[in-house]
Amino acid sequence: MAKLNFKEVKDFILEVSTQYGVTTVFNKDPDWEDYSFGDVDVHQRHINLYPNPKGEYKNLRELLGTFFHELAHIYCFENDIYGRYYTPGGGRMTVNYAYKAELATDRWGECLMNCFLSGMKYHAWYKTHKKEALDLLGRNL
Ligand SMILES: [Zn+2]
Repeated sequence: MAKLNFKEVKDFILEVSTQYGVTTVFNKDPDWEDYSFGDVDVHQRHINLYPNPKGEYKNLRELLGTFFHELAHIYCFENDIYGRYYTPGGGRMTVNYAYKAELATDRWGECLMNCFLSGMKYHAWYKTHKKEALDLLGRNL
């Protein structure tokens, strides 16, 4: 995938989703953020992606990384990797535990992405934005 275009990336993401038995839906970003983001329901195996609408979906690598991160959450949940992270109210969880769960998810996300797209750089946001990530996770606990 040398030069990316949005349709190819979207088709690729939907193809990988099908292979994993996951449903992925592309949504319009309600707040018009300048980055792509996603969320996942690990129990339903459902991923929502919100592609960055600016600059003709310029940052498609970011979108791919987001997808593989959310896919890795499903993998971690199903393999009990930081399993408590996926159990709302299931025991007290520290911000540090949540952060470690996200780091583990990024490690698996990078592995999954390399399976399909070797050589493409995976952006491990949680590792490079530790302070921001701890604030974010702390608010959501
Ligand atoms: Zn995550």
